[in-house]
Amino acid sequence: MSLLDNLNPPQLAAVTLEPRHALVLAGAGSGKTRVLTTRMAWLIQTGQVSPHGLMAVTFTNKAAREMLTRMTAMLPINTRGMWIGTFHGLCNRLLRAHYRDAGLPQTFQILDTADQLSAIKRLLKAAGVDDEKYPPRQLQNFINGAKEEGLRHTAVEAYDSFSRQMAELYGMYDAQCQREGVVDFPELLLRCFELLSRNAPIREHYQHRFRHILVDEFQDTNRLQYRWLKLLAGGGAALFAVGDDDQSIYAFRGANVGNMAEFEREYAHGAVIRLEQNYRSYGHILDAANTLIRNNSGRLGKNLWTERGHGEPIRVYEAMTDSQEAQWVVEEIRSLVAEGRQRREIAILYRSNAQSRVLEHALFSAGMPYKVYGGLRFFERQEVKHALAYLRLMENPHEDTAWMRVVNFPARGIGARTLEQLADIARASGSSLYAAVAQVPGRGGNNLAQFAALIDRMRFETQNLPLHEIVDHVIEASGLVPHYLQEKEGAERVENLRELVNAAAAFAAEDGYPFDAAGALAQTLPEAGIELPSPLAAFLSHAALEAGDNQASEGQDAVQLMTVHAAKGLEFEAVFISGLEEGLFPHENSILEQAGLEEERRLMYVAVTRARERLYLSFSQTRMLHGQTRYHMRSRFLSEIPEECLKWLTPKTGLAGLPPAGGSSWARSAWDDDRPARGDTGRSSKDAYYGSSQGYAGRRADAGVEVGGVLFKVGQSVAHARFGEGVIVSLSGSGTDAQAQINFGKVGTKTLALGIAKLDVV
Ligand code: ATP
Ligand code: MG
Repeated sequence: MSLLDNLNPPQLAAVTLEPRHALVLAGAGSGKTRVLTTRMAWLIQTGQVSPHGLMAVTFTNKAAREMLTRMTAMLPINTRGMWIGTFHGLCNRLLRAHYRDAGLPQTFQILDTADQLSAIKRLLKAAGVDDEKYPPRQLQNFINGAKEEGLRHTAVEAYDSFSRQMAELYGMYDAQCQREGVVDFPELLLRCFELLSRNAPIREHYQHRFRHILVDEFQDTNRLQYRWLKLLAGGGAALFAVGDDDQSIYAFRGANVGNMAEFEREYAHGAVIRLEQNYRSYGHILDAANTLIRNNSGRLGKNLWTERGHGEPIRVYEAMTDSQEAQWVVEEIRSLVAEGRQRREIAILYRSNAQSRVLEHALFSAGMPYKVYGGLRFFERQEVKHALAYLRLMENPHEDTAWMRVVNFPARGIGARTLEQLADIARASGSSLYAAVAQVPGRGGNNLAQFAALIDRMRFETQNLPLHEIVDHVIEASGLVPHYLQEKEGAERVENLRELVNAAAAFAAEDGYPFDAAGALAQTLPEAGIELPSPLAAFLSHAALEAGDNQASEGQDAVQLMTVHAAKGLEFEAVFISGLEEGLFPHENSILEQAGLEEERRLMYVAVTRARERLYLSFSQTRMLHGQTRYHMRSRFLSEIPEECLKWLTPKTGLAGLPPAGGSSWARSAWDDDRPARGDTGRSSKDAYYGSSQGYAGRRADAGVEVGGVLFKVGQSVAHARFGEGVIVSLSGSGTDAQAQINFGKVGTKTLALGIAKLDVV
């Protein structure tokens, strides 16, 4: 079978386009990624380029892996060492190969977002800066925003004393990172950009090498990424970008959808290919997406159609509580699985990470295997980060962030006073904490010296060991495993530490590309004097960059949980979008201005278009968030979907909901009268938004239902002879038709006819 079979005419045209710049602009599921991957395979197969002569950039590690898998399926070539990855991953690779020219130590380590925040806090403390006036998070955003614009601290425009101070702190932060040999995420890109722009031989080498540069999800590139691409392409390479303006969902991180128009103007010059046939979703799902996104303004405009027929309607469910919603999701998944679907083909999507807890709880209680992407990811778990900190110190003992993390973990009698003393000495002499140890007197100094010796010893003892044995040795010798074994709840943590050993083994076996790439580079560019990064260094940057997928358990058939952001580019047979409530999705931070709201709508468009066959939408009247019960109305996005695409599983009350154009009048949901005064729900700035009480026309659901002389109300505790005690979560009907949904805790939620079931009010 030829590579080019099964492509429609515009897809074929895109895949086989002559080597020139081009833009593929097309909606979700129209085959953009497929076109991009097939084009790579075709270029190689027809001998137009060698596997090392092209570069492909995607947005997530999962997508990059997917691309490699698809390539191998199409072409029997060794994809190892190919330049396919994320912007961060590729920049890391370039910096590893040219660390000297980039002004970095060979062992430079990557700070993830959390590490970066602690480094910033440490900086503010050391500089004696009031962190109320200059909040660490704000400084972090300031720094990252500037870096994403390509600006060093001296280039930041500061008009007032506050931003001048922020810029100065930015400079101090960069100096601290440089001293410690660490780079944060945006620094990877900026440093690499600077390397290429300043160093002509290196730039020319890559410009000469990459004949084709292909970019997926182009709508989400930021300014610096775009400039980086332009720099690499130089005058010679063909830039092939695919994207969908309707799926631009990273504006909050500086993504600039304007790059598409600019690219068309500067590069594509009319070579814009549009794909309109959707191969992913059934008609109802596609209609829902198309109609929804039409509410946005300033779109480039696309029309998607499918040959697949309508398919099942989209099911909608309204719950009274978030846990009831989660229960329902689990029940539906059970029946999907009973119909023979694989769990890994089922995804539960949500707007914010915090929503996963309730869902996870329900899945866990039901014994349903699941896997969370994003959130607290494997490499971000406390114990794993501790282990990584030891490994990082072995690579580079001068990295103060890692030092502070584990110097007294497990406890070794090193107190806050000793550490302050150490920090003072280090600051005075401009050295790292490690280098200052010898100057701390007394018992504290002694303990510190023992810790430093432990690091040196572990380095010595693991010389020449294979990667996974290094990790295995360190989790024991550091005292981490013995420590957690003594802890009551430590078993799972020990398991994760052992999993880290597996992850190291898997990495060495499969993902060793940094060595290959640098090795290949060393041959093609001998003048650069490239040295290979140690396997440990490569593994540590993998751990910092990896989207946290725990690859060892990748094979398990598990339900997939992730935020909508993380689901970009992926597809599943069945998709649940939960928490469709005003304030949650669309998110309250974005709701008040049109640009924010439109980004939320694009996010909803992304979510809806992930589904191939089945789509489920749900919302709940109440939700526990950040320790408080919140009362939400259903999302406006639900009413932006044509009614004929939907099938309501719960009665559609017609009450909740939707702002008419202009958005001032809000209907209510059934529990309204039981709500605390609106201002009591803990919201502040956005309260006015929720506080509007026009347009309520609600049935008094809280009035209860009377059956046989007994009054049942929502929220009431009842007892059943067989199911035990439960709480009424909803009521419907009246008289002999009256029904109650009752949550019986252990046995779950049951719907009972009140006239028949013998219930006692307790
Ligand atoms: P997104 O915007 O969500 O990233 P996309 O445009 O990248 O979507 P793909 O993921 O490439 O779309 O394709 C969507 C689905 O349609 C995939 O399962 C793909 O294999 C399938 N597909 C694409 N083109 C064809 C075709 N010509 N024939 C059959 N299936 C196709
Ligand atoms: Mg895609």
